[in-house]
Amino acid sequence: MAGKKVLIVYAHQEPRSFNGSLKKVAEEELSRQGCSVTVSDLYAMNFEPRATRKDIDGAFSNPEPFNYAVEAYEAYKKKSLARDILDEQKKVQEADLVIFQFPLYWLSVPAILKGWMDRVLCQGFAFDFPGFHDSGFFKGKMALLSLTTGGTAEMFTKDGAIGDFRYFLWPLQHGVLHFCGFKVLAPQINFAPELAAEEDRKGMVASWAQRLKNIWMEEAVDCALS
Ligand SMILES: Cc1cc2nc3c(=O)[nH]c(=O)nc-3n(C[C@H](O)[C@H](O)[C@H](O)COP(=O)(O)OP(=O)(O)OC[C@H]3O[C@@H](n4cnc5c(N)ncnc54)[C@H](O)[C@@H]3O)c2cc1C
Repeated sequence: MAGKKVLIVYAHQEPRSFNGSLKKVAEEELSRQGCSVTVSDLYAMNFEPRATRKDIDGAFSNPEPFNYAVEAYEAYKKKSLARDILDEQKKVQEADLVIFQFPLYWLSVPAILKGWMDRVLCQGFAFDFPGFHDSGFFKGKMALLSLTTGGTAEMFTKDGAIGDFRYFLWPLQHGVLHFCGFKVLAPQINFAPELAAEEDRKGMVASWAQRLKNIWMEEAVDCALS
């Protein structure tokens, strides 16, 4: 939809990967709609995933013992977080929709993306107490996980070798995105692209592009496990 702003937080090392293709078609389709699309290409940016003392510019509020969550909260309020965190926070602040594009690593996000969540979504910026879940600070924004797996769809069923995929979605969708107030859209899961035939992979990419045509009409899903 023309005028909307989209942030794609992308975590894959290889532009020619399947994830790279999904990122590319999302950029193309959303730009075609007149959206302004920003991509945080975490590996290309050499994004720092570690939450350390270096994230706080200037003096700590409580020098000993060091408490990252407290210092990040105080530094956010004083605008003294590290430059790369502030840059990512600005992108999130401006976005109407945030898409996370990544391959599943150990039933979760790759470490570089987990580090983005750890450092960017700090208290004061994304949430507070009170001010989480439905009153999280990103209410009014939408977020969506677009991910690929190594395992097949059958393996990710209740009786499959790995188990119901909803279990790995829960910490990310409910524990991170909904916690920060995002309206969480249905995940886009492309199971086992490495095992699929070329034509089927092309179909997966096309159906993602097709979904994005009507993405602004979608309603939130209930992402708590029930
Ligand atoms: C550390 C680690 C942990 C992991 N943990 C898990 C786990 O817990 N559970 C699990 O299920 N998996 C796991 N995996 C596997 C991982 O999720 C998959 O390898 C990954 O999702 C595959 O996506 P890809 O983009 O890397 O695929 P790629 O290998 O890049 O792509 C697959 C194929 O698609 C082709 N392709 C690219 N673009 C297109 C296009 N436009 N049209 C058609 N074909 C195209 C590529 O050339 C390639 O042949 C793990 C992997 C690692 C490294």
